[in-house]
Amino acid sequence: MVEPILFVTDLDHTLVGDDFAHEQLNEWLLQARETGSKVVYSTGRSLIRYQELATEAPLFEPDLLIASVGTAIYSRLDELPNVEWQQKLTAGWDVDRVMAVTAHFSDLVPQADSEQSAFKVSFFLTEEAAIWVLPQLETLLKQQNLEIQLIYSSGRDLDILPRHANKGSALTFVRQTLGFAPEQTIVCGDSGNDIALFAAGSELGIIVGNAQPELLSWHRDHPTPNHYLAKAHCAAGLLEGLQYFGFR
Ligand SMILES: [Mg+2]
Repeated sequence: MVEPILFVTDLDHTLVGDDFAHEQLNEWLLQARETGSKVVYSTGRSLIRYQELATEAPLFEPDLLIASVGTAIYSRLDELPNVEWQQKLTAGWDVDRVMAVTAHFSDLVPQADSEQSAFKVSFFLTEEAAIWVLPQLETLLKQQNLEIQLIYSSGRDLDILPRHANKGSALTFVRQTLGFAPEQTIVCGDSGNDIALFAAGSELGIIVGNAQPELLSWHRDHPTPNHYLAKAHCAAGLLEGLQYFGFR
């Protein structure tokens, strides 16, 4: 390892999913951390659901956790989320008015309470219904002067978030806070909510071989030598990407 890196990775189906490769990657990451590298997990899961996953998968405690699709950043898992970041998200956001609009759509099935937060309203939505629900919903929310974004992942999960909240904007905030240049930063993901990580800037990116169609088609439409599409799945794909970029 020549210089410290900031390693930012999604969890489900990216870092997590192949325990053997995951443990191998853990070894590499923990060693890199000894020379100043930082490890950040960026997940759609809430803190509670992250903690559930941590009991099932070989996850070590990261330097920072970006939870709930970028709407909460934790520097310690036993403390409240970063206040400065929460304040950035409040502009143009009103959770009650968002809920009032979504109530008009019977195809939107609310996710569990643990997945809802002050800055994230989450539903299940089938792919068939998404085709007409998403544009109508977006129009109605914007007519209410709400500054929101819709993030649809894995043909199933719909997150409605403040316009400035996503994995990409949280990545930029974290990267600047920790003092890493984009060129020293590697982002990793597999699905729609990870697109914001890859679109954030000139960071290096590893897309796992088992990536979802929405990320693959985004990758095809936005070709750059900064992004590597691995053949291997999950953590094995991340190891492959690190090798491709010459880090290991
Ligand atoms: Mg994922």
